Amino acid sequence: MKSPDQATSLCHSCPKLCRYACPVAETDQNEATTPWGKMSAMKLSENGILPFNRETASLAYKCLDCKASEGACELDNPVPETLFHYRAKAFAAKVAPPSILTYAEQFQKFSNPFGIDLQKKMKSLLPREFSTPLKKIAYFPGCSEIQHFPKSTAHALVLLRKCRIDLELFHEPILCCGYPLYAAGDIENFREIAEINIHAFQKYREVIVGSPTCLQTIDVTYRQLGFRFSTRFYHVVEKIKIPPTSLHPLPELRAGQRIAYHDPCHLGRARGIYDPPRQFIKAATGVEPVEFFTNRANSSCCGAGGLLPISSPDTARQITMNRIEEFKRTGASVLVTASPECACRFKAIDPKIKVMGLLDLLS
Ligand code: SF4
Repeated sequence: MKSPDQATSLCHSCPKLCRYACPVAETDQNEATTPWGKMSAMKLSENGILPFNRETASLAYKCLDCKASEGACELDNPVPETLFHYRAKAFAAKVAPPSILTYAEQFQKFSNPFGIDLQKKMKSLLPREFSTPLKKIAYFPGCSEIQHFPKSTAHALVLLRKCRIDLELFHEPILCCGYPLYAAGDIENFREIAEINIHAFQKYREVIVGSPTCLQTIDVTYRQLGFRFSTRFYHVVEKIKIPPTSLHPLPELRAGQRIAYHDPCHLGRARGIYDPPRQFIKAATGVEPVEFFTNRANSSCCGAGGLLPISSPDTARQITMNRIEEFKRTGASVLVTASPECACRFKAIDPKIKVMGLLDLLS
């Protein structure tokens, strides 16, 4: 991995080759928020040419962590990771955007972004048999799934057991991977959550994860921060391998409704998982999903990543609306995605469209 200095130097001397890949710059129509503009600002602040004040620091938060610039960059320059390094610097210097500082403070109360006891909620919704400890494999839903898509957790557990995977529900008190703190730049508290989670994960040989963002955070970011652990992590869609005859779709989907599949950035571009969700939709409903105009590695982001809805709500909203317009142009009537965070975002911005989690296609 390139150091922040190497990464910002590369961008600063680059003729903006990824200019059109960044949805934030495209939406803002602003050179300052292109990957080149944001990385150059960080470089100039390191060199003492720009002050590292609230205005400069705010550019580090103009990033969705969608990996689109990395996909377009011949040099694989890690723009989001580098900008997150500067978020940490901004947070420590108290020059992060005030909305971010408030958000991180609220997160601390329950160690999740929703301000509720998620462990209690999850236990009340699921059969006791899934909470029996001492298995070597666990299911970690992630906090957005528990809060907004608890049925997905139940479906995941039942389907994984049908696949003869002897697993339990992750039963430790913290049910958030800490990504919101990482994206806020609150590295100190993020490290603390990571340490607690890793201690719990190490009891398992494998952990199957519901949220692609949690998976990316645990399996990649924790390791980038120097944590070492042997547990293997998978997204749930990688593990569900059962014949279509065992899958029973919701009655309303049997009429051959057209379904469009949205690739979550942290499952697609970050991990290269494109076919398994499409195969699952075909197996569950008997119908091939419809494709968005931008899909797979070129898929547009849903607008929820990197805490952009907190730091730049208008830009984030426009990005989500653009993706929803793209969905409407597919002619499909249901938008399905493998990420609870993307699904929540679409629902929040346009409650009229029908949005479903992948596993919620089943009755
Ligand atoms: S991410 Fe790559 S292509 Fe984009 S400005 Fe930086 S070096 Fe250039």
